[in-house]
Amino acid sequence: MALRRDRTRTEQQHPAPPAIELRAVRRSYGRGEGAVQALRGVDLVLPRGSFTAVMGPSGSGKSTFLQCAAGLDRPSSGEVLLGGVEITGLSENRLTELRRSRIGFVFQSFNLLPSLTVQQNVLLPQRLAGERQDRRRAGELLARVGLAEHGGRRPGQLSGGQQQRVAIARALITGPEVVFADEPTGALDTRTAHEVLGLLRQAVDTMGATVVMVTHDPVAASHADRVLFLADGAIADELWYPEPAAVADRMLSLTAVAQGRPAGAAA
Ligand code: ADP
Repeated sequence: MALRRDRTRTEQQHPAPPAIELRAVRRSYGRGEGAVQALRGVDLVLPRGSFTAVMGPSGSGKSTFLQCAAGLDRPSSGEVLLGGVEITGLSENRLTELRRSRIGFVFQSFNLLPSLTVQQNVLLPQRLAGERQDRRRAGELLARVGLAEHGGRRPGQLSGGQQQRVAIARALITGPEVVFADEPTGALDTRTAHEVLGLLRQAVDTMGATVVMVTHDPVAASHADRVLFLADGAIADELWYPEPAAVADRMLSLTAVAQGRPAGAAA
């Protein structure tokens, strides 16, 4: 009893840090008159076990946000913290190491290596990180995504939806702090997209994963707990427990504003 009370007190004094935190993150490209402010001061805290969708009109800063948050690009100013650790000042080597072991990626085009088997693809992040390759965990993850029997196949022998499921298993193999998904359903039909989104949702709900997903699709975004809307390099709006229709509505208004039309006017 005393032990439990002590632990609770310790947890209150040192609560688990958020999976990811952005503090006043700015990113500009170029200098002088031609400079473009891609991010204009983004502040954001994403707790562990959350599923966040990021939307916004073309050019609003979604890719830049993802690149900066995932340590693929450096902000011009501000800080990015991964599991409480400031990553903006790290050397290129440390950053690469950290990306390999503590960040998972899922891309629109799956990005599996065609010459490796499905199982080898899932184990690749551990191999690259110089960690022990945990075949049992790879098998468990493949079973979770419904591909228990496919570990020995090559990606080319799988459908697009199956390849994306392999990519999800691969993204989870190191038990990363965050999984970044960039238009993960952009190349999939509606039914397959729904399955893939269900798997991301499940990873959050049953494995405590943290997912950040950039998408254009209001239906995809509705699988998240929260949608962040970027406009002109800043977070312009957010929606909790999003319904597709409400997401589509906000996107329409943001796009209208971005194009200089009054919100609600026909495109
Ligand atoms: P989105 O992903 O929402 O379409 P981006 O993050 O790609 O937006 O771009 C945000 C802004 O930054 C845009 O105005 C874009 O033209 C500009 N931008 C992005 N990358 C570069 C770059 N490498 N050089 C110059 N401008 C860039």
